[in-house]
Amino acid sequence: MARQLASRLSVVAPSVTLAMNSRALELKARGVDVFAFGVGEPDFEPPQAVRDAAKRAIDEGCSKYTAVTGIPALKAAICDATEATRGWRPKPENVCVSVGAKHVLFNLALALYEPGDEVVVPKPFWVSYPEQVRLVGAAPVLVDTREEDGWKLSPERLEAALSPRTKAVILCSPSNPTGAAYTESETRAIVDVVRKHDCWLIVDEIYAELVYEGFQFVSAAKIAPDMRDRIVVVDGVSKTFAMTGWRIGWALAPTPLIKALDTVQGQSTTNATAVAQHAAVAALRSPIADFAPVRESFQKRRDAMVRGLGSIPGVRCRKPEGAFYAFADCRGLYGLDWNGKPLATDEDIAFWLLDRAHVAAVPGGPFGAPGYVRFSYAASEARIAAGIAAMRAAVDEAKRLGR
Ligand code: PMP
Repeated sequence: MARQLASRLSVVAPSVTLAMNSRALELKARGVDVFAFGVGEPDFEPPQAVRDAAKRAIDEGCSKYTAVTGIPALKAAICDATEATRGWRPKPENVCVSVGAKHVLFNLALALYEPGDEVVVPKPFWVSYPEQVRLVGAAPVLVDTREEDGWKLSPERLEAALSPRTKAVILCSPSNPTGAAYTESETRAIVDVVRKHDCWLIVDEIYAELVYEGFQFVSAAKIAPDMRDRIVVVDGVSKTFAMTGWRIGWALAPTPLIKALDTVQGQSTTNATAVAQHAAVAALRSPIADFAPVRESFQKRRDAMVRGLGSIPGVRCRKPEGAFYAFADCRGLYGLDWNGKPLATDEDIAFWLLDRAHVAAVPGGPFGAPGYVRFSYAASEARIAAGIAAMRAAVDEAKRLGR
């Protein structure tokens, strides 16, 4: 059947998140005031310097192809920022700039994994990790973590998951969806297990600047200089600088892998958009102190969201160390009435919340955590308070109807 779709698509899960999102957009289009706790992006604008740099880049004619792996100015800014914020210094030849961190991870999948390979992914996971592994014909090995361990992978469980087929371990800290962040000693313990095993360690640090109450983020690359020939750091400007739409992310990796990424990317997108690269330079060159108020504001929002969710009967929520997600156990809402039927899954709960409270949130099933729902707190404290009140009212109403 010449016109059949490629069979690799049959192993990739369709996105529930997108179905949720289109329902939310439908409601919005009808004029409903939807509480947008579903999205994974900050609600503020990038710094003024970023916008100015982009305008300047347009006016100065930065409208041509760039080097595949990025403009020298951005690589230099990435190296400087990595040294300033993460305490170790990569060289420009260790950098490959791509069209967002998601694209970095996809390039890595193409450059590293093949059929027969296993890639260890702690669960709950950001949805794209296992799907990208499957798309290139390799197998994700999903390793359970427990809420009582702070959703963090234990060295013992990691050890048990490694096999001669393990090609890479992907670690996300702070995590999407749980917000959990590994302490220095927890990261060290993971690194020590990987050190004994001949495989890559991919650390997704896209939320590393978003940690609260003085939490100290320490990169695996800083902890283990001896392993920099097989640690890959994935990072970008999307979350830290509220630049999700600009699509700039990067890999920090040993030179032979950067060369492989250059080849992969050279046959797909070529470079990341030139103007966006110039904007990213301005973001990374903006004084780091500027970030303190953002962090403070996110901490207040986190506290409001976690406290609010915890005040809803049937909902339980652990306080996360970082990112901007509250990951709540909603199994206590099972059985509540929705149009004469009991709520029975996290997907039911997410659609019910949208229907009855106009709260958009993301069910935990696709992240590997049935029964949980992810609430993004990248919204003002007032919106968070109003959304929580709407959810509480929906629960009260469902209880009344159920009687
Ligand atoms: N990694 C994680 C854990 C994320 O949550 C996201 C965004 N949702 C990304 C990577 C991708 O970010 P971007 O492609 O916008 O740089």
